Amino acid sequence: MSKSKIGDKLLIIPQKIVTADSKNRILKGIAVEITDGKISSFVSKEEIQKENYAEVYNASNLILIPGFIQTHVHLSQTLFRGLAEDLPLLEWLRLKIFPFENAHNNESLLITAKLSINELLMGGTTTFLDMGTLRYGEVVLQEMIDSGIRGFSGKCLIDINDLYLEFKSSTNEEINEIRNLAQNYHNTGDGRIKYSFSPRFVLSCTEELLKETKEIMKDFPGSIYHTHSSESLQEIDEVRKRFHKENIEYFNSIGVLDDHTVLAHCVHTSDNERKMLKDRNTRIAHCPSANMKLGSGIAPIPQYLKEGISVTLGADGAPCNNNLSIFNEMRLASLIQKPIYGAESMDAQTIFRMATIEGAKALHIQDEVGSVEVGKKADLVLMDLDSYSNSYSDSDESIYSDIIFSSTTENVRSVMVDGRWLIKGRESLVYEHKEIISKGREELTKLMKRIR
Ligand SMILES: [Zn+2]
Repeated sequence: MSKSKIGDKLLIIPQKIVTADSKNRILKGIAVEITDGKISSFVSKEEIQKENYAEVYNASNLILIPGFIQTHVHLSQTLFRGLAEDLPLLEWLRLKIFPFENAHNNESLLITAKLSINELLMGGTTTFLDMGTLRYGEVVLQEMIDSGIRGFSGKCLIDINDLYLEFKSSTNEEINEIRNLAQNYHNTGDGRIKYSFSPRFVLSCTEELLKETKEIMKDFPGSIYHTHSSESLQEIDEVRKRFHKENIEYFNSIGVLDDHTVLAHCVHTSDNERKMLKDRNTRIAHCPSANMKLGSGIAPIPQYLKEGISVTLGADGAPCNNNLSIFNEMRLASLIQKPIYGAESMDAQTIFRMATIEGAKALHIQDEVGSVEVGKKADLVLMDLDSYSNSYSDSDESIYSDIIFSSTTENVRSVMVDGRWLIKGRESLVYEHKEIISKGREELTKLMKRIR
């Protein structure tokens, strides 16, 4: 697959390094040495001894950045891109997404996982937190191991489903299954793969399941509790009817909020709920494209940041986006707030950090990834910003806005995870594009026939 082997020393010589370290350093004239999957040293260009390396990647026209981290995606849904348009959240789930996910088998889930991982890698995302789906959770986890990407996944938990009756399981089955999956997959793939416990959302889970899942999680340190919260007003009305509480108040009352909980969305929250998020150090995964496409609203992100609440970014599912590009999310995360909070809010450097080191912190892997620093794992992206639609300035001043506002996934040239090249010169070393697209079409046709 990759030309390099474990144990080989590699050297990347970029034009600049945008480190995302605590000082936001931008380095020039520095090469990055990689040994056993880690950044082992920074070497000044004058001191390079090329003969010491199994591979020297001369990237003198490219910018080196940390791999992007997306804290909310749905690999199982990528196959359904373009098939769930112009619907609000609960209708989108009832009429489209739950019937589609319910019709998955091993083969269709495997190909949607491959298509997703491919799209994420091609766009420079090296780590993700996946919501999973109800069945065959092992298929996605195994493909994550095989592909070489880094991430968290696990089966999605549903033991109540008023929206689509067939798409659920029993509380006991759910509890047994997550224990087994976590035992089999947590910390596998040389530590790249971690388990995430994923109750779908409050309306799809019994209180027993929500609480018991949090208990089981204690046996798997480093795992994440991943759910959706406070996405649309209609959903929140349903939550109020059922629990006589706001969504986050309910989660708080049953003890599932802490610093290992990631809540996707949080578009609509009260003062009291924001206080709970802050006090519990709970993480928010902001998905601006999905929030706009489903008409859910605009999350008050500048307010969360001001109050010291952790916010990171995710593309959510392909059918509510319709893309898995971190560049779209970064651009929107900034632009949608400016008319509300002012032009100075959500500057490009803040957004860049949300998509890199802050993502790593949210998932408690900041000692391993999220920035380009000696001692960290080599999860790296090389970008070509030398195009007609990028900035013409060589100064550091323009670098963040050039990445956030002027770039797309097309600017990504090469991607490395754990010191292994997975994308090189825009060629995937993992997947054959024609093959996975044609297999995707084939499995989608079969899946649609399985829906009654
Ligand atoms: Zn989602």
